[in-house]
Amino acid sequence: MDSTLEELTAEQYVERQRELEIEAREAYPYKFDECTYSKGYLKQTLYACLTCQREADSLNGVCYSCSISCHADHELVELFHKRHFQCDCGTSRTGHESCTIRKSKAERAPENQYNHNFQGRFCSCDTFYDPEQESGTMFQCILCEDWFHDRCLEASNQGKPLPDSESFEWVVCKDCVSKYKDCLLNPQHEFPYKKEELVVPQFLDEQFREHLCQCDPCMEIRKTQMPILIEDEPIYEQPEDSDMEDEADAGVEDMRSLDEIVSSTMQDVLHVLDRLPRVQAIEGVHAYNRLKNELTDFLLPFARENKVVTKEDISNFFLERLNSGKNGG
Ligand SMILES: [Zn+2]
Ligand SMILES: [Zn+2]
Ligand SMILES: [Zn+2]
Ligand SMILES: [Zn+2]
Ligand SMILES: [Zn+2]
Ligand SMILES: [Zn+2]
Repeated sequence: MDSTLEELTAEQYVERQRELEIEAREAYPYKFDECTYSKGYLKQTLYACLTCQREADSLNGVCYSCSISCHADHELVELFHKRHFQCDCGTSRTGHESCTIRKSKAERAPENQYNHNFQGRFCSCDTFYDPEQESGTMFQCILCEDWFHDRCLEASNQGKPLPDSESFEWVVCKDCVSKYKDCLLNPQHEFPYKKEELVVPQFLDEQFREHLCQCDPCMEIRKTQMPILIEDEPIYEQPEDSDMEDEADAGVEDMRSLDEIVSSTMQDVLHVLDRLPRVQAIEGVHAYNRLKNELTDFLLPFARENKVVTKEDISNFFLERLNSGKNGG
């Protein structure tokens, strides 16, 4: 329980939130005013622009702001999070146009990597994602970051049903288990599957990194082949919070710390989003931002009764909403 949050009533929170939102909206009518290009390689929400792909004859991924400010009327595929990626907007990967936010052309990011998701295709079955048709759950492989249908994971799991979705946090797809098996050794230096068995996908819990062998050679292999098995990249947060902070006048110190609490809650939400069916997950940051706005409405009854809002209240609100959106697994 956080004492800073307890000291601030819901009424104060809603009031400040409203003021800040009005100010922010006046100052930044589009809210999507910062391309992430200048920040270099980030783990961020990306969109593949199929329109620009055809134009430039190259795969591309653009940041959240660019998807709205520069490619809103283009055919976009939401890719959710991809690691180590620099926005391609305004480079030769998106054609001849400058980025409308940065108002300039830029060099291609040489380290960006593109899988079939950037063509709008997903999973080992290599099919186009259609939110209208898709009824199952999709899981993102923590290593290749592709998305897999539950039924396709099951098929690669030798037909065995997947473990209960509550019992694991992350999936490593069959191909990645095979490709990165030397990074996945346990302290006894055993592969994550029995030798006599065929390779199957792995379902990992939150602490899985601690259960991998920590000896120097193993750490060295991980460092070179798949460093996120040592530590994951932090997820880049959308810039609107900091814009709001900039806009806010002095004396909002506790608003700032409340904001920090809310954004740490939203980090948890992102983590949950990773586990949602692709139908919901594909909405990614749109859903995320919608939820964040709805938080204010949720807090109104608390404000009327002058009740204190706890972090749990906020957490429950988000988790409840996310869970009610779940279908399938
Ligand atoms: Zn961008
Ligand atoms: Zn485009
Ligand atoms: Zn742009
Ligand atoms: Zn599939
Ligand atoms: Zn994979
Ligand atoms: Zn080892």
